[in-house]
Amino acid sequence: EISDIPDLPEGVPEHFREQGIEELYPPQGEAVEAGVADGESVVASVPTASGKTLVAELAMLTSVARGGKALYIVPLRALASEKKAEFEEFEQYGVEVGVSTGNYDSDGDWLAQKDIIVATSEKVDSLVRNGAQWVDDLTCVVADEVHLVDSKNRGPTLEVTLAKLRKLNENLQTVALSATVGNADEIADWLDATLVDSSWRPIDLQKGVLYGQALHLDDGSKKQISRGNEKATAALVEDTLSDEGSSLVFVNSRRNAEAAARRLGDVTRDYLTSEERTELHDIADEIRDASDTQTSDDLADAVEKGSAFHHAGLSSESRELVEDAFRDRLVKVISATPTLAAGVNTPSRRVIVRDWRRYDGDVGGMAPLDVLEVHQMFGRAGRPGLDPYGEAVLIANSHDELDELFDRYVWADPEPVRSKLAAEPALRTHVLATVASGFADTEDELVSFLERTLYATQTDETGRLETVSQNVLEYLERNEFLEREDGGLRATGLGHRVSQLYIDPMSAAEIIDGLRAAEGRPTALGLFHLVSRTPDMYELYLRSGDREEYTELAYERESEFLGSMPSEFEDNAFEDWLSALKTARLLEDWASELDEDDMAERYGVGPGDIRGKVETAEWLLNAAERLAGELGLDSGAAIREAKKRVEYGVEEELLDLAGVRNVGRKRARRLYDAGIESRADLREADKSVVLGALRGRRKTAETIFENVGRKDPDLEGVEADGDAETEVG
Ligand code: ADP
Repeated sequence: EISDIPDLPEGVPEHFREQGIEELYPPQGEAVEAGVADGESVVASVPTASGKTLVAELAMLTSVARGGKALYIVPLRALASEKKAEFEEFEQYGVEVGVSTGNYDSDGDWLAQKDIIVATSEKVDSLVRNGAQWVDDLTCVVADEVHLVDSKNRGPTLEVTLAKLRKLNENLQTVALSATVGNADEIADWLDATLVDSSWRPIDLQKGVLYGQALHLDDGSKKQISRGNEKATAALVEDTLSDEGSSLVFVNSRRNAEAAARRLGDVTRDYLTSEERTELHDIADEIRDASDTQTSDDLADAVEKGSAFHHAGLSSESRELVEDAFRDRLVKVISATPTLAAGVNTPSRRVIVRDWRRYDGDVGGMAPLDVLEVHQMFGRAGRPGLDPYGEAVLIANSHDELDELFDRYVWADPEPVRSKLAAEPALRTHVLATVASGFADTEDELVSFLERTLYATQTDETGRLETVSQNVLEYLERNEFLEREDGGLRATGLGHRVSQLYIDPMSAAEIIDGLRAAEGRPTALGLFHLVSRTPDMYELYLRSGDREEYTELAYERESEFLGSMPSEFEDNAFEDWLSALKTARLLEDWASELDEDDMAERYGVGPGDIRGKVETAEWLLNAAERLAGELGLDSGAAIREAKKRVEYGVEEELLDLAGVRNVGRKRARRLYDAGIESRADLREADKSVVLGALRGRRKTAETIFENVGRKDPDLEGVEADGDAETEVG
């Protein structure tokens, strides 16, 4: 029982009791027996929704009660705020919680005051690189979803970060939470932790495959799903609804998620009460308000009928509105891409994995999903305390497929987790950072540091890590980020800077070469293109017809590029150049005040993607500005201006206005067109003119006056000048 655990802060056991948590779930009990509340390291490999969070809380709270400090590493930024909100419940018992997101180039000193810190692995990595002192005081670190060390892009950072933290404090308690994977014992070995490996779930999970009208379940039973003319997914959703349950449908692309949500709305709308209809109508309005795009409109239309879609192209506001409405049981079905399975807490009575194949760029065609991924989706089925059981369903189109799906996913064990560290892009970044932040001063020390990683625990290929590190060291030396002498390693000033800026050394090299090649003042497009061709910017793919369009543009604007354009005969290099140009023009459109909606159409992306590109560009331009400073290049002012223009999404003339809180790109343009061209104008101008330009929105105008420091922000008795009738109120 919770009350048997010593060292919990006063009031916490009672708090858990109020939440309905008195007795530990079996895997939690095993973790406590393994010493998770006494500072011992534990790897918990248990199914989704089986209470992993409580295991982490017991470790962190007891560590803090003994005078220590805990760090909780999340895999996604979106989860950082969710976890922070959960842990803040303990602030009433004197436990201070802080979340660290935002820029990758600060040391976050303020976090020294906190007892529990929540951050992504990238953020922790960057804090270590920037010399955050409090990292030395950590007594407990929790790694959530540790099976993601398997991910090519992000796994190595988690792996190296854990190795660094454990090197800084040999007695650090390490708690790793994992989905059920094939080789959790190897993760436990690596972390010198006791393994808790369990398949226990608080709520029954039935798994099955629908073929025709028959739902075949894993206990051998069959259920009849009446179908009429309906498609399989609609029939399953309707069957759940008739039992007052909700469904999650996983599909393989954004477009499919949107199409499915539209179709399933025709099923759900007949099951709404009139109160639900009213509430959904309000939520749909909020979604339309949050972002002015076709995607949001489509989402709002579906939500009004009790159906929604969920994918990474949505704005974070829309995403939250959808998740909340689903938890409140207003939205009856969500059609989602696999991103939703990765951690966000949206359990549902029935989970339908409609597509078990998806496009894979490496294969150049459709490839089956990993067992681990499908099991994570399955794990979202069943809400403890609300549903009698959870049900996870795949859909077969033939009798053979029925058997195949049982073998491939229902009966199968998840794949083992494999370290992805021994790849050059990963090691390039981490070797430089390891040397720059003092974890290795010689090649021998570097090798022995790398031996602390999961990769070293797993590999039989002796020497591979050393070979790849040698290549990487040569690369870093050639680009003057690192010096080697008699086996000794030293980061140069530039190398330190690159490590702290948290960019891939290859991005830094590309940026430096480009800036050095600049003749005269670089244009915004030239700079946007430069940062878009670094490995830190995810590419926009060229669609059919794009090649011609961007080739033409490339020749038209050739003089603006920093560095020379590859020849059309160098196929891959030229193609990459054009993809970068597509991204660069997206950024230029954004910084030229083009409507989000028009951009979405022109580039085939959602508002969330535009945000993502803009944020990455801001970060890389900031790095470029610092590198220019470090190298004494005089493009600093041009870079700063380009950075501000993407940040605000405006032309140069609006930079002053758009920087005022609550103004934004659209209002800045309207103010400017009404003759109010600067902050000084805002402070002095005739109030009725400002009010007119803001379309009669009094509250907004007053807030803006306050933010710009106007002495008399009050608008009482002022009438809007000009065309204000459209939006008064
Ligand atoms: P996971 O992190 O494994 O996906 P969660 O930690 O979110 O799962 O737990 C799922 C739910 O179970 C939460 O609502 C949590 O409050 C509840 N829960 C966890 N442990 C217990 C317990 N021992 N007794 C009752 N409810 C619990």
